[in-house]
Amino acid sequence: MARIALDIDSTLHHYWDLLDELSQRRFGISLPYREQTTWSITRLEPDQLKALVEETHSHDNVVDAEPYPNAVETVRHWHERGHYIHITSHRSDSARAATERWLERIGMPYDDLHCSYDKVTRCVELEIDVLVDDSPVNLDRAREQGILGATIIHPWNADVVDDNAVIGARDWAELREKLDRVLNRRGRA
Ligand SMILES: [Mg+2]
Repeated sequence: MARIALDIDSTLHHYWDLLDELSQRRFGISLPYREQTTWSITRLEPDQLKALVEETHSHDNVVDAEPYPNAVETVRHWHERGHYIHITSHRSDSARAATERWLERIGMPYDDLHCSYDKVTRCVELEIDVLVDDSPVNLDRAREQGILGATIIHPWNADVVDDNAVIGARDWAELREKLDRVLNRRGRA
């Protein structure tokens, strides 16, 4: 059985549109998804970005997020097959209760939830085999620790996927197909 870690924002749901919408509302600055080809967001000042990200993690914004099609079904399928599911999000511990509520609302099964700013250390502690995360920074760090990376492809991580360093998929149906191949191989080993 494998130990799987799953990021939330831009992995389990489409986070970007909320960030863009709040940026326009608060600062009059749009953040077009297609143009976000790097991990850093340079159109905003650091303190603006920090305030925005905090707002995206307010109780209602967390609880109201709609998961990507097939995300919950896929994770349930893995969980039923006995794989360990660790949900990990780069958000403050104060967002934990809302995050638990969201996971319950969408029917997401999991064994462990971690809300903090240091994901990969926790993944190493939990002996995670596969990290699904859209952040090129986390994917690189995971690889250094021998953890296989996988992601939904976004403009900001397409390079990492092109390098064949991680498994990339356009949507959860494709991600399930690609990761099932890896998980089945592991199961036989
Ligand atoms: Mg993310």
